[in-house]
Amino acid sequence: MRIRSIFLLSIALGSAVGIAAALLFALQQWSAFQAARAAQHDTRLLVGTLGLAEGMNMERAFVNARLLAPVIATPEELALIRRQTGLVDISFSDTRRLAAAPPDTSALQELQSNLLDVRQGALLAITRPQTERPAALVGAYLHQMFAVQEAAYALAGAIQMRINVNNPEVGAATRLALLAWDLRDWSGRETTTFISYIGLHLPMAGEPAETLAWYKGRIEQKWLAARTYAAQVDSPDVTAALKDVERGFWARGGEAYATYVVPNRGRTLDLAPDSFVTFIRPILDTILPLRNSALKEALRQSDANIIMRRTRFLLALGLLLMTGCAAAAATRWFDLRVVRPVEQVTTIILALASGDRSVGVPLQGRTDELGQMARAIESLRCNAVQAEAAGYEMLALQKARADEKSHLLAELTRTNEDLGALNLQLESLAATDALTGIPNRRSFDLFLVREWRRAQREETSLGLLMLDVDHFKSFNDRYGHPAGDACLARVAAAVVTAVRRPGDTVARYGGEEFVAILPGTELEGAIYVAERVRLAVTALNIEHAGSPWGFVTVSIGAAVIMPRLSEAPEALVNGADSALYGAKHAGRNHVATAPNLSSSAGSRDSPMGMVQTTGIV
Ligand code: GH3
Ligand code: MG
Ligand code: MG
Repeated sequence: MRIRSIFLLSIALGSAVGIAAALLFALQQWSAFQAARAAQHDTRLLVGTLGLAEGMNMERAFVNARLLAPVIATPEELALIRRQTGLVDISFSDTRRLAAAPPDTSALQELQSNLLDVRQGALLAITRPQTERPAALVGAYLHQMFAVQEAAYALAGAIQMRINVNNPEVGAATRLALLAWDLRDWSGRETTTFISYIGLHLPMAGEPAETLAWYKGRIEQKWLAARTYAAQVDSPDVTAALKDVERGFWARGGEAYATYVVPNRGRTLDLAPDSFVTFIRPILDTILPLRNSALKEALRQSDANIIMRRTRFLLALGLLLMTGCAAAAATRWFDLRVVRPVEQVTTIILALASGDRSVGVPLQGRTDELGQMARAIESLRCNAVQAEAAGYEMLALQKARADEKSHLLAELTRTNEDLGALNLQLESLAATDALTGIPNRRSFDLFLVREWRRAQREETSLGLLMLDVDHFKSFNDRYGHPAGDACLARVAAAVVTAVRRPGDTVARYGGEEFVAILPGTELEGAIYVAERVRLAVTALNIEHAGSPWGFVTVSIGAAVIMPRLSEAPEALVNGADSALYGAKHAGRNHVATAPNLSSSAGSRDSPMGMVQTTGIV
């Protein structure tokens, strides 16, 4: 796997993890932001609903007081109202539907439109003269009133539930706002219900004491709950406001309320709006600021919450962006600073390894490990260049030396060959007689020893002829030395021709004397060969006036021996020499023999038996 792939893979993995984490955080913040927005919407919806319900209650109480107080409805009229409006059979299906449905703006709008109807109905009912107020109109108004009121209750309850479930952070302020509304509603409900009751039942009976006690008990319960929540909120303002309410309501309003109803029991009441407002005002004066501050706090909290959530979401987005940018920047930087240089260095190393020493090594100016590596590679490259140069020099030197050596060897071989040839020549020269071209005395000695040993081994006889040119001194004297030399050469050639067997050897013994070694030759054979030699020389017919024969002749001594271990070759030579002496003594141009040398050696002093042949041809 290439380093770039490894690097890109690691960066991709790292970036993916970082970006995924940032993305997750951003998504979390986004959903929190969305939840905060929903909570804000809910809170505003709640506030609106509360305001509507409150306004409706106040209006209802006010209108009821004005509308119903003077009316003395007969049972017939009540029956008519029931018939026309179905008041006793009022269906709450609409309000249940609203309670079940999630709070939304359409529900709010429905409430608002219903409220408009209520207001129009109330206006119509109030503005008509009492004598013209038909029971149907009053019934229709009440019908709408109850429906809207129930819807507002249900809607507010649903919103409260949803806020409590979805957004507990809205918390105490919202709860307090609801409680304040609830308290306010209870007081209003009691009032309006009471007034309605009075309006409807006045002719027959006053409100029973148990009913009044029940209402009072419910108000006390709500009041206790309000105080509990106020203690939880632990706000001096709220506490002070509640104390005011306590003083105003229970000290004045509550008492007034209780005493207000009872004394009028069983009588026609003139509940003028002014007196109603006077009754409710102390309560409203204390509870409304409390309610308002609670609602304000709820709104403030939801607004702050949404700002905080939006800020966090933007921060998360920024973090995501920064993570992405950082990953990209880190990738780019690492790629430029590390991966590409590593690839460059790898290329250079590969080039160097393949033998290219001309490459320039980059990155040497860097101060980090790559720079160190580049400098080290450059140093190695320089060393390699030097080593190669030295190697080339060495090779050239070696080649020159090898050439020189082979040249010398060739020369030496040639010289050796020359020397060999010279040696052969020298050997040949050393072994050959220059004048006659036949083996000289030295060669003869060697040949004789060799043949002697061979004869010993093979137990064969060995013959030797020794011949001497007769009267040669006088030949020289008469014809000159050069002529003597030429004569000797011719005599030698004639002897060589006459001694024919391959094993025979003819040599110049010295001066005008020649020898012939005849291996495996018996005495008769030796004599025969000697005679043939003598005749061959005479056949040359070289003029020699100083000789009695008138031409050049030779005397030949022949000897034959069976060599024994105890004897030396000289015995044979001496024998032949003695025989030669005999031949000279016999008058020259003769062949003489020595007796059997194996049994008795001959000497000049004791001449041996001779076989003589006349030299006359
Ligand atoms: P004989 O019949 O008793 O042998 O008499 P000779 O004169 O041949 O004997 P001698 O030994 O007195 O003479 C030998 C002569 O041979 C002497 C010398 O001048 C001659 N001689 C020896 N070697 C050579 C040579 O290489 N060339 C020439 N031209 N003459 C030689
Ligand atoms: Mg001689
Ligand atoms: Mg001689």
